Amino acid sequence: MSIVVQKYGGSSVATVERIQAVADRVVRAREQGHDVVVVVSAMGDTTDELLAMASQITDLPDPRELDMLLTAGERIAMSLLGIAINARGCRAASYTGSQAGIITDTQHGAAKIVEIRPKRVLEALEAGSVVVLAGFQGLSSAYEITTLGRGGSDLTAVAMAAAIGADVCEIYTDVPGVFTADPRIVPTARKVDRLSYDEMLELAAAGARVLQARSVEFARRHGVRLHVRSSFDDQPGTWVEEVDGSMEGVMISGAALDTDEVKVTLERVPDRPGVAARVFKAIAAEGINIDMIVQNVSHEGVTDLSFTAPREDAPKLRGVLERITAEIGTDRFSIDEGIAKLSLVGAGMRSHPGVAADMFDALAGEAINIEMISTSPIRISCVIRQDDGERALRTVHARFGLDEEQSSDSSRA
Ligand code: ADP
Ligand code: ASP
Ligand code: MG
Repeated sequence: MSIVVQKYGGSSVATVERIQAVADRVVRAREQGHDVVVVVSAMGDTTDELLAMASQITDLPDPRELDMLLTAGERIAMSLLGIAINARGCRAASYTGSQAGIITDTQHGAAKIVEIRPKRVLEALEAGSVVVLAGFQGLSSAYEITTLGRGGSDLTAVAMAAAIGADVCEIYTDVPGVFTADPRIVPTARKVDRLSYDEMLELAAAGARVLQARSVEFARRHGVRLHVRSSFDDQPGTWVEEVDGSMEGVMISGAALDTDEVKVTLERVPDRPGVAARVFKAIAAEGINIDMIVQNVSHEGVTDLSFTAPREDAPKLRGVLERITAEIGTDRFSIDEGIAKLSLVGAGMRSHPGVAADMFDALAGEAINIEMISTSPIRISCVIRQDDGERALRTVHARFGLDEEQSSDSSRA
């Protein structure tokens, strides 16, 4: 019998009515003869609300206690869904991450999965139960409760799908699939039927939050096929899987806007070997991931150093930077909260020069200033003012022929 993993995001379980609808869908999959593992997020905006309560107390809540708090959100959703499935005469049992054997490292707030021991989950399936799992959480090697980073229920679903050899991992959400841009910002965006892992990974890392980037990375490594689709209807969504030949013609697969980063600038940093290593080692030691880095030309032995980092890490970052700037003797640092990162992603960029120039030209046409640039073989990203973000996304989306009503000639090789 085939095993299906279904993951339902916060908006798909936001109310008791929505949970009832999810229970109906789960029971249908069970009646079709599948073994079903369901992964749930916290209801609606629960995680944000819990975070807001903690931050009313302090800017830097104790990481262990914060994880205890946040994992409670998923526990409410999983048990309500368990109740709803049982009430339909279908046997189901809910499990926390710890009970389901999701073992992580000890990094509270952004723990990495180090091992999955799916014995209990497999036994429950064997006994004919639907398994309901709390997403976003695990048990650390030090027996503490951890969380997997924002959007981490996607990772729970993918990792469990890999561990139990599921045929597919279905990601149910509040949009019909992955679009060429966030359909809430670009109403003319098109749904994409198929994407390669590489393209989806770049889109997710660029801020298309429909999938957590780490979950896509995990899916690629373990060959888990993903089907991103709406929990509101039965239409097919977007498949994320290994590239096949037919996709090579697509030049640009999408654009994304990330407003969850800040830009940090260290002014007048001594320009000598070892300084950058010291700065970034101190930041990495706090578990903060840096994204773009730009160093200016040096004058009189000093230079400015800028980088971007997750907005949620800004309070932690401030502490590290106060310490490190005193140690290396720089003048000062600033944290600019008013930025956005605009990215264009497409496998065809590898073989098509001029994509970057066209993107910059589109932004120039709107008088939008570019503050930082970074590239990968299949992505170009620009840091711009956050106020310009949505207009910039729509402009670039249109320039590359991604809009629904336009002919898609210019988006193809
Ligand atoms: P869930 O709660 O189901 O995990 P998320 O809010 O994490 O849902 O992700 C779904 C949202 O991602 C959509 O509502 C949409 O606004 C946003 N999004 C951003 N970029 C894209 C994209 N390229 N395609 C589809 N949705 C996108
Ligand atoms: N509830 C968590 C979050 O909001 C995990 C998830 O939804 O995937 O980030
Ligand atoms: Mg999500």
